[in-house]
Amino acid sequence: MQGKLSGEDIKRVTELLRKSGYKLTPQRQAIVDTIISSVGNHLTVEELYALVRLKKPEIGLATVYRTVILMNELGLVSRLDLKDGSARYEMTRIEENHTHHHLICTRCSRVSEFMGDLLEPIEHVIEEKYNFIIKDHSLKFYGICEECAKEEKLKEE
Ligand SMILES: [Zn+2]
Ligand SMILES: [Zn+2]
Ligand SMILES: [Zn+2]
Repeated sequence: MQGKLSGEDIKRVTELLRKSGYKLTPQRQAIVDTIISSVGNHLTVEELYALVRLKKPEIGLATVYRTVILMNELGLVSRLDLKDGSARYEMTRIEENHTHHHLICTRCSRVSEFMGDLLEPIEHVIEEKYNFIIKDHSLKFYGICEECAKEEKLKEE
């Protein structure tokens, strides 16, 4: 399941960027639009760059990099580090109280999302036992995705 981005989210992104003094040139706007429209996907900067180039072929990889880093600093984009050393980025969503969990396929590196929290009982235990106020968490599950499991099965037959 992929999360949806509301009009509220889009407004927040544009306003925050403007407030931070970031001038939204048409190129930069194209990067921001692409990030917004790929919500729920977890893209490397190179993948994002390839998408943006479909709209603005003249854009440079460095511009895409800088925009992603800035959006990450502003909390608009979150970064996900995979075991294979690659970093992936995705839009953060305001309707999310706690960050969703990630299911990472160790065979094809596909990243999917698990939207439920399921951690509330653990969070309560931690808060009581360690006097620690939990604001968020980041959880990655490593395993084999559905597609890869099917392919493995085909090979066996
Ligand atoms: Zn939680
Ligand atoms: Zn897979
Ligand atoms: Zn995600």
